[in-house]
Amino acid sequence: MAVDSAISSPLGPPACEKDAKALRFIEEMTRNADSVQEQVLSDILTQNSQTEYLRRFKLNRATDRDSFKSKLPVIAYEDLQPEIQRIANGDRSAILSAHPISEFLTSSGTSAGERKLMPTIKEELDRRQLLYSLLMPVMNLYVPGLDKGKGLYFLFVKSETRTPGGLLARPVLTSYYKSEHFKTRPYDPYNVYTSPNEAILCSDSFQSMYTQMLCGLQDRHQVLRVGAVFASGLLRAIRFLQLNWRQLSQDIETGTLNQKVTDPSLRECMGKILKPDPELARFVRHECSKESWEGIITRIWPNTKYLDVIVTGAMAQYIPTLDYYSGGLPKACTMYASSECYFGLNLNPMCKPSEVSYTIMPNMAYFEFLPHDPNSAGFTRDSPPKLVDLVDVEIGKEYELVITTYAGLCRYRVGDILRVTGFHNSAPQFHFVRRKNVLLSIDSDKTDEAELQKAVENASRLLREFNTSVVEYTSYADTKTIPGHYVIYWELLVKDAANSPTDDVLKQCCLAMEESMNSVYRQGRVADNSIGPLEIRVVKNGTFEELMDYAISRGASINQYKVPRCVNFTPIMELLDSRVVSTHFSPALPHWTPERRR
Ligand code: AMP
Repeated sequence: MAVDSAISSPLGPPACEKDAKALRFIEEMTRNADSVQEQVLSDILTQNSQTEYLRRFKLNRATDRDSFKSKLPVIAYEDLQPEIQRIANGDRSAILSAHPISEFLTSSGTSAGERKLMPTIKEELDRRQLLYSLLMPVMNLYVPGLDKGKGLYFLFVKSETRTPGGLLARPVLTSYYKSEHFKTRPYDPYNVYTSPNEAILCSDSFQSMYTQMLCGLQDRHQVLRVGAVFASGLLRAIRFLQLNWRQLSQDIETGTLNQKVTDPSLRECMGKILKPDPELARFVRHECSKESWEGIITRIWPNTKYLDVIVTGAMAQYIPTLDYYSGGLPKACTMYASSECYFGLNLNPMCKPSEVSYTIMPNMAYFEFLPHDPNSAGFTRDSPPKLVDLVDVEIGKEYELVITTYAGLCRYRVGDILRVTGFHNSAPQFHFVRRKNVLLSIDSDKTDEAELQKAVENASRLLREFNTSVVEYTSYADTKTIPGHYVIYWELLVKDAANSPTDDVLKQCCLAMEESMNSVYRQGRVADNSIGPLEIRVVKNGTFEELMDYAISRGASINQYKVPRCVNFTPIMELLDSRVVSTHFSPALPHWTPERRR
């Protein structure tokens, strides 16, 4: 079904009574988007009226939009750093939220190289749960029979730390999977996973992936959908199968679990699930030992109706690879969410990735939209930004998302740029355009221009003793390999050819760049194995001038030309690659621990 018809038609006949309730809820929220928003703002401002933050701006218990908009500034994470640091250090007073901060959610966005810490409160879990509960009722409208089998989802928990004041700091999904909402969820025939909780909750990523894959293989005929949160995660699972199918088949054949799985509760749980199945073992060996892995997902899980993975935003780069492994199965992007707040869902999840629009649910937070003009210089004290309310955004225009949450973020810029594609009732639907200031991304890492610049500067110090400098650079996220990796093109000025930097030195430069990257990047390299070693490709002298000539030949202004710090346009890649004189990979892992560096 096309996006348009989903917007204009009612959602459709529900699969069961529970779904009917969920769909009615979506209709109610989206029909009354503006009044729901007004109520949400009033609830938040009432709940938090005595917080230090709202008192500072002299809101005097007002709960209306006008007072709120005239008194509270639009802010970014950096503006809240002092408050967040105090909470992290153990100040339990009502700084941002009247409700106690239950934990910090560690965002994949960074500030000063470290993950952002998002304060959250207990009741937010209910709100997230509510959004999750709407996903299957919508999916059931498009894909019948999902109660006749299972979902193979690769879901993981990540490491958690405590702040100096003793609050937990962990990713939002880790928080959710470890919550009672998830662990003791009631049986729902439409939402049965092949992975047992013990496998999802095992903090060792190898053991977790190994057992989830084993369960998925064992249940292969029952699997109706295959997924992970992001496309990169699903491809990592395929890569894992490529590396481990021999051992996995061995376990299936004998019904015994690989000794590398040491977690006692996981071993006990798998002991009850694993049964010797020589025929299945033969099948897995046969399929996995074929030279081509094209269509491997549908070969192993022949009843898969769709892939459930986010392929919008930075993840769009993985669409061709997913199509290759799945024979072009539909890719459902079901929701749009962040550590700060869960935003909304896709009401037409089986549409093409390029047509995905997310409907923001007006009950999740109070939403405002900052018109996005890529050419404007930003706003000043004299010309403050004019923010638009949820129901007032205009089709075709781009906006930056600004949220006010129950946990105490007020007029907070999320950093996402969205374009309005239409409306469902009075709730707008948004195409995710991009995240502001992100140059490179392989998994959940987000590297911006300043971080890349710093990394190049740090690495190029190693070249000084060779009288060599980096005259120009650009970058590329290479996702043809799994895991993908950063490629940095360097044009060097070597002043003393007899003493030019060796392969070893350039390898050390790769590592120095990795050491300079933010903690999400380094965690991806070290703990998650979701990013491969960084590569430097040294190009011939004059290459960047050729790049400029090419851009000018295509209409760029010579006066305004700037070297692109990230490239992905095929002719430019071809030009760069044809000028490569040497390639070098990082020889080791950078440093990373769950603890913050500062
Ligand atoms: P985090 O706070 O680490 O969970 O990251 C949240 C960010 O991930 C969002 O602000 C978006 O930039 C991105 N994101 C989340 N969901 C989607 C989606 N469905 N499509 C594209 N990007 C997304």
